[in-house]
Amino acid sequence: MMAQYLEIKEAHKDALLFYRMGDFYEMFFDDAVAASEALDIALTKRGKHLDQDIPMCGVPVHAAEGYFLTLIRKGFRVAVCEQMEDPAEAKKRGSKSVVRREVVRLVTPGTLTEDSLLEARRNNFLAAYAAVRDQAALAWADISTGEFHVTPLTPLRLGPELARLRPSEVVVADSEELYVSGSESYDSRQIIIDNGASVTPLGRAAFDSTSAEKRLCDLFQVGSLDAFGQFTRAEVSAMGAVLQYLEITQKGKLPLLRRPAREAEARTVQIDAATRRSLELTHAMNGGRAGSLLAAIDRTVTAAGARLLERRLSSPSRVLDVIHSRLEAVDFAYENTTIARGLRDALRKVPDLDRALSRLGLDRGGPRDLAAIRNSLQQAGEIASIYNEINLPGLLANAAQDLVGHDELLDLLDQALVAEPPLLARDGGFIAPGFDDELDEMRQLRDEGRGVIARMQQKYIDDTGINSLKIKHNNVLGYFIEVTSTHAEKMLSAPLSDTFKHRQTTANQVRFTTVPLSEMETKILNAGGRALEIEKRLFDTLKTAIIQQVGPLTAASRALAELDLASALADLARGENWCKPQVDDTRALEIVAGRHPVVEQALRKQGDAPFVANDCDLSAAPNAAAIWLLTGPNMAGKSTFLRQNALIALLAQMGSYVPADSAHIGVISQLFSRVGASDDLARGRSTFMVEMVETAAILNQADDKALVILDEIGRGTATYDGLSIAWATLEHLHDVNKSRALFATHYHEMTSLAGKLTGVENATVTVKEYEGDVIFLHEVRKGAADRSYGVQVAKLAGLPEAVVARARIVLDALEKGEREGAKKQATIDDLPLFSVAPPPPPVRVKDSAVEKRLEDIHPDALTPRQALDLIYELKALK
Ligand code: ADP
Repeated sequence: MMAQYLEIKEAHKDALLFYRMGDFYEMFFDDAVAASEALDIALTKRGKHLDQDIPMCGVPVHAAEGYFLTLIRKGFRVAVCEQMEDPAEAKKRGSKSVVRREVVRLVTPGTLTEDSLLEARRNNFLAAYAAVRDQAALAWADISTGEFHVTPLTPLRLGPELARLRPSEVVVADSEELYVSGSESYDSRQIIIDNGASVTPLGRAAFDSTSAEKRLCDLFQVGSLDAFGQFTRAEVSAMGAVLQYLEITQKGKLPLLRRPAREAEARTVQIDAATRRSLELTHAMNGGRAGSLLAAIDRTVTAAGARLLERRLSSPSRVLDVIHSRLEAVDFAYENTTIARGLRDALRKVPDLDRALSRLGLDRGGPRDLAAIRNSLQQAGEIASIYNEINLPGLLANAAQDLVGHDELLDLLDQALVAEPPLLARDGGFIAPGFDDELDEMRQLRDEGRGVIARMQQKYIDDTGINSLKIKHNNVLGYFIEVTSTHAEKMLSAPLSDTFKHRQTTANQVRFTTVPLSEMETKILNAGGRALEIEKRLFDTLKTAIIQQVGPLTAASRALAELDLASALADLARGENWCKPQVDDTRALEIVAGRHPVVEQALRKQGDAPFVANDCDLSAAPNAAAIWLLTGPNMAGKSTFLRQNALIALLAQMGSYVPADSAHIGVISQLFSRVGASDDLARGRSTFMVEMVETAAILNQADDKALVILDEIGRGTATYDGLSIAWATLEHLHDVNKSRALFATHYHEMTSLAGKLTGVENATVTVKEYEGDVIFLHEVRKGAADRSYGVQVAKLAGLPEAVVARARIVLDALEKGEREGAKKQATIDDLPLFSVAPPPPPVRVKDSAVEKRLEDIHPDALTPRQALDLIYELKALK
């Protein structure tokens, strides 16, 4: 056995080998040491190898999924090695024969299919990155849903694309070289790790575009890839690598992938990783879903709908037709509330069709997956009937069409399956009665066995005249007839001994069998086994029938997701009072009474004052910039205002209503958002360095269709450095990039730019001062802030009174000095010294009666009773 283990392990060096032994997966040697530590399970030993103890640990097969997940999260991959034959068969070959075993699957982060290992409402992508000279491409697939995509990209765009898709695993060529552009070099592995995915190197051969093309053509049964569109060599190579890796991990069983869909860069809004982070689109700053825009707007009722929403939000469109057709769909659901409500009720009962289909395709499915498909089709039919005879807009009309035409499969599944099948096919009991005659007969035999045996018992009682005679069952003897020892003699002598064969004598009983009884037993056993066999065969038949329909089924699933999304967005729009945006190819960005959806919901939840809606107008003349320079104290709501306008534009372009009274958005092509950067210590960059790298990226890339949001640029360095950089950045955005931009700053000096640059306007978030405190009004209006109120805000934050008072003195002196044109250094030298009045000494009444009494007390000498009396006494003295 060890020889077999070592041979298999040799072929899977980079994975933990889960070696099946009966009801356990066992791990040995270093695998055991690593796994026992990672899983916190006991490490034991078993036998010796080269005179050394072999470390071993194991997990029960039925609980293995949970352990897979822990290991994957900790960065391991797992090779699952199963017994490929019954141990009895191995024995037949010879007493020393080892059960045949094979690795049937590699479990890796990007290739999970089990519901328990996946987040239902999120896609789990496996990606491959291929670079052919300076052409590169990224392909990605979700084997749990069958989606398969590819996009060409430049190596510089790998980071942003990964940030958009968030794959959990990325395959790269093991000989991948650094890509150098100008003075920067790009290490694709580092970029992948930075984006939170695990890197899987594969041999160069897996990326060979010629064999990749063949692999693709074979899988999709086409003569040439042209059938799916024109692909670059890098794209073909990336797609081929995905397939190759799936073949390796699934051991030749390929999942039911859809035909590859090409995503052109020019069709979606370009949003880089930093922007996604700062806008908290799909993940909040802390990495979780809660607090993100996605969480705030998700009202979908199906898992596939939720996944579609996340994809849309991650990749808003910039193609007007696409945006309009999506808006039209939401609009329909918005206007037809009764229909939409019925639809949502029906959708709530739709199970995860994609994932059920994928498990069946990979032979990992069970009866519940068959039922999931039946239930989905049932609901699809019901939903289609809701839409019958209604004039639907394009997107919904197409979806409704994909919901019908599944009657044949539905009928089959309907007749074949029980209402709520068990989890495992091997337990049987999922095929409905009346579907298969032989199965019914076998089940009847099996179930009736008990009745037959009860009747037999009565007959034997009559035959023998022994009233206490019983037929019993145990695992050793099977069915047997039992009488007490007192009747032994009668049974053991003729004529009864002709019928009743002796089996066993115990202290008080004697046991017998008869030919009819053992025949009956075999029948019952056989019938049970035969019934299971028939069910297994029927399972395969149903599975095949489903897989033959994979195309229409995925179309139906996609349609259900589309309907879910449209009605969820409409529900959101009604509930939150959102409006339908006007999106066109102008350069407008005009928002009336816009709100930040996440902040608004948070304020409502906390029961705070309602969100103050604000207007924004960045409509730009042709070939010119439109920039608002926003000043105002900290905490006034500058960041919130900046972000809400970006979010409104994104929501509009993903095809959603928006949180505003009205919105007119000229399509934006790129979105950049930089918010006073945080340290990137992991990569050894200071706050300021990160900020400058990111600002550089914007100034180098933003075009006249970009929307740029800069919050407190230059904060990380000395005042004049920061001001100069912010100043020059704004000028560049205005003169060169000609973007639409919102620029928040605390450098009041910059407000004078509004007079100099035609496209720049000042705006401020208003506050009121009341008895030395500030009150935030959160209203954005044109004009510059008068002062920054930093000291007042500090006071609100609970800075000690003495420090606040001192800061006021310093501020007054500095402002006075500035007004009178004094040198800063002189002003600082002239400042009166810091003086905190010493706190008054605490008042102690040393000589009070209580004090005096306390002096005399020795706690150690007191009993609890005396202590209590003393307390009464002290109380009386007070
Ligand atoms: P700044 O960027 O000016 O420091 P923020 O945008 O971070 O200020 O806003 C500070 C807080 O003020 C937010 O957390 C939010 O609770 C509140 N706030 C911001 N804008 C509004 C608004 N328009 N209406 C109501 N509350 C707001």
